[in-house]
Amino acid sequence: MNPRLRYLAMVHGVGAAALRWQRLQAARRLARAARRERPHQGPPLRSGARLKELIARHYLAARYAPGARPVAWVTSGAPSEFLVALGYHLHYPENHGAMCGIRRVADADSEVAEQAGFSVDLCSYARTDFGAIRGGPSPAGGVPRPDLLVCCTNICQTVLYWYQEVAAHYEVPLVVIDTPFLYRESGPTEHDLAFVERQIEEAIAVAERVARRDLRPAALERTVARARDAVDLWMRVLESTRARPAPMTVFDAFIHLAPIVEMRGTPEAVDHYAALLAELEARARAGIAAVKGERLRLLWDNLPVWPRVRWLSELLARHGAALVASTYTQAWGELRDWIDPAHPLRSAAQTYLRPILNRGTGQKLAAMAAMARDWQADGAILHSDRSCKPYSIGQVDQARLLAREHGVPALLLEADHNDTRAFSEEQATTRIEAFLESLESRA
Ligand code: SF4
Repeated sequence: MNPRLRYLAMVHGVGAAALRWQRLQAARRLARAARRERPHQGPPLRSGARLKELIARHYLAARYAPGARPVAWVTSGAPSEFLVALGYHLHYPENHGAMCGIRRVADADSEVAEQAGFSVDLCSYARTDFGAIRGGPSPAGGVPRPDLLVCCTNICQTVLYWYQEVAAHYEVPLVVIDTPFLYRESGPTEHDLAFVERQIEEAIAVAERVARRDLRPAALERTVARARDAVDLWMRVLESTRARPAPMTVFDAFIHLAPIVEMRGTPEAVDHYAALLAELEARARAGIAAVKGERLRLLWDNLPVWPRVRWLSELLARHGAALVASTYTQAWGELRDWIDPAHPLRSAAQTYLRPILNRGTGQKLAAMAAMARDWQADGAILHSDRSCKPYSIGQVDQARLLAREHGVPALLLEADHNDTRAFSEEQATTRIEAFLESLESRA
């Protein structure tokens, strides 16, 4: 069958109907779970059923996209609006990696990568991806073959070498958008902005060539406007946890993060966050707590420990501790003021130069101190992520300064976002419980 027809039939026809059915089933399961009392946690979010459907549809589209739509692989912080406006299907290896982590197959992928010669010291997302493209397990049934790779260095330099490896593996073009690091609190200079804007223009030219179509300015403006709306709603979702008790925790935010990363610029992402926000506002009005008897409010720094998200959320809830804010989930929301659909390229340069990982460690400390104040946090857990060095650098000083200068005690928790071999539940339990006890004794 013609790939385009097969795509339409499977994604919009049969597949859409099957996913709607699955969503109804998921909604029923969630409703049943909401009626069952959980000892330490409030009822699960109903929006989880819609999220499941969105993600399933995204990966269903990925399966049938090659040959029917151009496919681009993109780093999580890269300007992607021009690709959405050009009709690309976007695949984010980091999101796929997170899914492998949650489903606990990331270690198996890492082992495939390590057997192929990649170092265990590489980022565990990169190893998960190298394993998945070599036939390792994937909860999505595999990854789509790319036509184009777009890599932005605003999160780390690892992605540059990672994408060079993927480009060699699939023999496809790679576009790199290099972002100067922002040491100054004053933000990017005019030279920084012009440098990034020029690279985005060049990336658009390559993407147009690969997709064999021209980018229409109106389509780009519309996509950027949707991205701005989704980012704004996402930030309001995160701000809902300022309520006491918090209607959701950062663990929910970790799970609902996927659309803002991989569906930014689409109507689906806007609709999802509008519905999630409405649900959270209703829960806050009704006083429904994510953690029953919330006594402690905590910040989180760095990526989640994906394979242990549920375990950690239950452990904290048992002690009445709600994780209410995190630098990681805010990384997309805090950029909302820079997105301007009327000037899509200049605004992309402004926005994509500013992710937290492209700014000095002092700026991250200031952001955490402000979060602790605004979310009334009693303490902070700084995940020292073995394989994400750029996010973990400076945390020893940040923990000390948070406590000394801002009165926010902080725990450094050694783990890895995907590699369970670098994590001990027993050790983590002892350290977290001792930390929570010390916070309770201060209260
Ligand atoms: S090193 Fe960190 S920032 Fe870079 S890809 Fe890995 S997790 Fe992301």
